[in-house]
Amino acid sequence: MTELEFPARQDLLPPRDRWRAIRLGFAGQCPHCGQGKLFGRYLKVNPSCASCGEDLSHHRADDLPAYIVLFIVGHVVIGTLMSTDAEGLWPLWVHMTIWPLMTLILSLALLQPVKGAVIGLQWALRMHGFGGDDT
Ligand SMILES: [Zn+2]
Repeated sequence: MTELEFPARQDLLPPRDRWRAIRLGFAGQCPHCGQGKLFGRYLKVNPSCASCGEDLSHHRADDLPAYIVLFIVGHVVIGTLMSTDAEGLWPLWVHMTIWPLMTLILSLALLQPVKGAVIGLQWALRMHGFGGDDT
């Protein structure tokens, strides 16, 4: 018998609710229990959940949250710019003030929730060491 005939250990474990984990991560809560805080500081993930003890140190969000935020903010800002500039009523200095400011504020506001959602998805998919049993 080869090892291909046996299911992987992760396939034997019960599936985790992906949308619940993404939603909890987006809200900055532990994807396992929903009680503890996911972040200690702005983008600094707590090493473990203070409520349930889930090890959160091995997440690998890396650059994915930044790419997702860039995609969202780019579409929102460019879409809004295109719709407001259709009549060409605003002077250039207004455009030079509003759009960079809107880009900065939206990016900073979305980065933590999107990172939390990515970590929640990684937890739900048992990626990067999140494969422990659900006890
Ligand atoms: Zn927890």
